[in-house]
Amino acid sequence: MAKSTINIVWLKRDLRLSDHQPLAEATHSGIPTLLLYLFEPSLLADPHYGDRHWRFVGQSLQDLDRQLSQFNSQVLVLKEEALTAFELLSQRFEIAAVYSHQEVGLALTFARDKQLARRFRQRQIPWHEAAFGAVIRGARDRAGWDRHWHKAMRAALAQPLLSQQTLWPSAHWQGLSSWPLPSQWLDKQAGMQTGGESMAWRTLDDFFAGRGRDYYRAISKPQQSRSACSRMSAYLAWGNISLRQMYQQLLAHWQVKGFRRSLTALSSRLHWHCHFIQKFESEHQMQQRCLNRGYEDYPFDDDPKLLSAWQQGRTGIPLVDACMRCLHASGYINFRMRAMLVSVLCHHFNLDWRAGVTHLARLFLDFEPGIHYPQFQMQASVTGINTIRIYNPTKQAQEHDPEGQFIHRWLPELRQVPPPLLFQPWQLTPLEAQLYQLAPESIYLNPLVDIEQTAKAARQRLWAYRKQPQVRADRQRILARHVRPR
Ligand SMILES: Cc1cc2nc3c(=O)[nH]c(=O)nc-3n(C[C@H](O)[C@H](O)[C@H](O)COP(=O)(O)OP(=O)(O)OC[C@H]3O[C@@H](n4cnc5c(N)ncnc54)[C@H](O)[C@@H]3O)c2cc1C
Repeated sequence: MAKSTINIVWLKRDLRLSDHQPLAEATHSGIPTLLLYLFEPSLLADPHYGDRHWRFVGQSLQDLDRQLSQFNSQVLVLKEEALTAFELLSQRFEIAAVYSHQEVGLALTFARDKQLARRFRQRQIPWHEAAFGAVIRGARDRAGWDRHWHKAMRAALAQPLLSQQTLWPSAHWQGLSSWPLPSQWLDKQAGMQTGGESMAWRTLDDFFAGRGRDYYRAISKPQQSRSACSRMSAYLAWGNISLRQMYQQLLAHWQVKGFRRSLTALSSRLHWHCHFIQKFESEHQMQQRCLNRGYEDYPFDDDPKLLSAWQQGRTGIPLVDACMRCLHASGYINFRMRAMLVSVLCHHFNLDWRAGVTHLARLFLDFEPGIHYPQFQMQASVTGINTIRIYNPTKQAQEHDPEGQFIHRWLPELRQVPPPLLFQPWQLTPLEAQLYQLAPESIYLNPLVDIEQTAKAARQRLWAYRKQPQVRADRQRILARHVRPR
């Protein structure tokens, strides 16, 4: 029997049906389109990812299926490596073309895409890859990049043509069936955001309906930021909404009274989103080595005990531990607290950024390789071009959690200790410690490091190292490649 001819839209981190260039191109081509998602065993085993990510993906796929059911269609979900999956599909179908977004991902997916492109060329299957946001593949520098960002963000949305005629029916998968999602991914997890295009829009609408009014005031505060920030990062990272859709919604609300300062701040951050991903696109070796090669010989320490305490939120420094435990439970903290966690790891503890970068990726529900790696390295001060920022966790707590709300929420052992004592419990007298129910052996009376001393040592080390000739030499190369020409 002759094989049916189909297009395949390979969904990756673009789990939505609207403003979707590959889906729009495929469905306008006149050939029925099959939507495919692959749970690749190599990615499932990758240490950057954990159940929280795959659960979010599963929820997003369920949301797509709900929308597609009116067209008698569904996403075909396979648990296979990409090469095997496309082999299976080409045995059953005549594949007219494959459509997807370009992926600015880990070394693993970069290598997979190169291998797959070779295979498609051998099989004469065209693979149409659409640009990801405003990221320019292969850009050598930033000349004209800002203009490009604005143009991409203001362009018309790419709307697919969804109908029973344009989508391939799930009843005709030629013997293939969707991989059933494991039961542990099906339940919602309390405290963790739920994936899906519908939830993405609900979250964004809610931001513009009111909670975003205080955004610019609350952005640095660990507790208030949880409701006043957009909380769109996971939805953007998994593509439940496009950056362009979010930016155009921002423009649509530009005149709303009381929002202007918040929207100005948000607009810059949407710009940063692609700016950082562009950095990673242009220099993906950042996954393994310092952006500034001069830092490859930086004298980091190796202290598994400190690393483990940081990972578990048991360092004895209240705000640091509260942030880490909050991340374990909810997958989210705001920007400033992320930066502080990295600063404590790499400055106060003097541990290599590579020792912590995967740990935070696995905890961040919004893990986006192109933002995560450049941000991590910037906060670790291994770029040689950014200001060195050594965060003082006590000061951060005094300024951004003055009532101790956030610390009390995540550190039950400190619930009896009132602010401002809460921020430096090691200064409690034995009598106060007893009064506030802290056992003498508590890590909060005996923190692993003295943050004043470690900050001082880090400052001296970092500023001296920045003057090294190899750091200065690579700085020029980085500026030419990643910074906008004036
Ligand atoms: C060490 C470190 C690692 C990070 N890793 C990630 C990551 O893996 N994924 C991720 O999405 N963000 C990451 N960020 C950036 C930032 O912390 C989050 O985007 C933000 O906290 C998400 O919350 P929100 O959606 O409420 O942000 P909002 O403040 O509401 O901003 C809206 C969107 O703008 C983008 N954005 C905001 N701040 C930044 C920024 N500083 N740099 C780049 N884009 C930004 C995000 O897409 C965000 O969703 C990291 C920051 C640091 C310091």
